[in-house]
Amino acid sequence: MLGYDVVIIGAGASGLFCALTAARRGLSVAVFDHNTQTGKKLKVTGGGRCNFGNTRVTPENFLSSNPHFSVSALSRFAPLAFKEFLEQNGLSSVEEGHGQLFCRQGAVAVADLLERLCQEAGVHFYMNARIKNIERREDFRVTYPGGTVPGKNLVVAAGGLAWPQTGSSCFGYGVAETFGLDLIEPRPALTPLNMGQGWQMAALSGISLPVRIQFGKTSFEDALLFTHKGLSGPAVLQISSYWQQGKPVVVNLTPDQSPEDILAKARGTKSQVKTVLGKLLPSRLAAMIAPPELGAKPVAQLRKEELAWLVKRLTAWEITPKELAGYKKAEVTAGGVDTKAISSKTMESLGVPGLYFIGEILDVTGHLGGYNLHWAWASGFVAAQSLKESQ
Ligand SMILES: Cc1cc2nc3c(=O)[nH]c(=O)nc-3n(C[C@H](O)[C@H](O)[C@H](O)COP(=O)(O)OP(=O)(O)OC[C@H]3O[C@@H](n4cnc5c(N)ncnc54)[C@H](O)[C@@H]3O)c2cc1C
Repeated sequence: MLGYDVVIIGAGASGLFCALTAARRGLSVAVFDHNTQTGKKLKVTGGGRCNFGNTRVTPENFLSSNPHFSVSALSRFAPLAFKEFLEQNGLSSVEEGHGQLFCRQGAVAVADLLERLCQEAGVHFYMNARIKNIERREDFRVTYPGGTVPGKNLVVAAGGLAWPQTGSSCFGYGVAETFGLDLIEPRPALTPLNMGQGWQMAALSGISLPVRIQFGKTSFEDALLFTHKGLSGPAVLQISSYWQQGKPVVVNLTPDQSPEDILAKARGTKSQVKTVLGKLLPSRLAAMIAPPELGAKPVAQLRKEELAWLVKRLTAWEITPKELAGYKKAEVTAGGVDTKAISSKTMESLGVPGLYFIGEILDVTGHLGGYNLHWAWASGFVAAQSLKESQ
């Protein structure tokens, strides 16, 4: 039976980078995936442009029930480390808003590069492989229809549940539970928010504007997009990771302007409310944000309560979504393998030596903007550094 130093489950972002790093250290590595191609999700990241990282990565860009877990790995894999890796291998990058780093040659080029370098480093791929069983004796044994493959170390890089069309499955969570690890309940994150039947703003579908959106103490400034089902756009995706069912998000539609000042100035004129709103907001939104009777009133005639209502509507509009749009529309899965039983330095299970978890399967969820791929690289890298050779 052919045995490996490392068997990795998942040929996605974290699994490929871990495989490459381990193979370059001289370890023998096998990678299993039930997809027929490697990096299937990686190839669609960033709308095909691969937002592979961010110049401003800090632990504060990640949600976890164990908030300090990411500190060690992030300190050992610098924000620009993957950018440098791409450059060393003939690809280049561009920095866009909010420090986001994209690969100029696109996501497919990144995935192809990782697979090619893995092949050159001697990684063996077992693709289209349905794993039937994993057991642990003195080593780990992965059984698939083609046989049983032993590995001294087992790295679970099977990702989360988002975008099932790219091969996402709950397999990795099952492996974690089999070996006695706890799960923080997985949930869709970086997803649109649905408003349910009778969404009053459905007619605004397609309108986008810069907003500040808040849930509890967390807020983001970015674009909000009205859709026929509810709210989307980067600001909404970001807040969806924090939102809790039944509670409102608070939207400031004019984060860069003061409607109080603008309305106060308009009181000395004959302007109607709708005219002033039209200067602050996209016209279709301006026409719907206040009831028609209020919109038709001259600002000078507004009662104190009407003025206060209007300012609140513009700067602190409370919207209670019905639900998250779900895994089919989510970029990532929040929750996952509870990190309390994982070493933050190596990603190895504290209770099961040789068993590692990397990437999105862990209860570490990045903000929008390249953070999730950075976590995939960083966690894969530190795990690969600590993997041990067979005796
Ligand atoms: C549409 C979209 C766009 C995104 N864009 C960005 C972006 O631009 N920047 C960013 O930072 N993040 C982005 N993300 C998130 C990012 O892609 C993921 O966080 C990242 O790919 C996670 O890496 P991973 O290795 O943990 O999991 P994955 O890349 O999902 O890899 C997991 C692998 O495990 C395999 N697998 C699952 N179950 C089994 C099984 N039973 N047997 C064998 N193999 C199995 C899967 O087939 C898959 O190949 C995006 C996500 C989506 C859905």
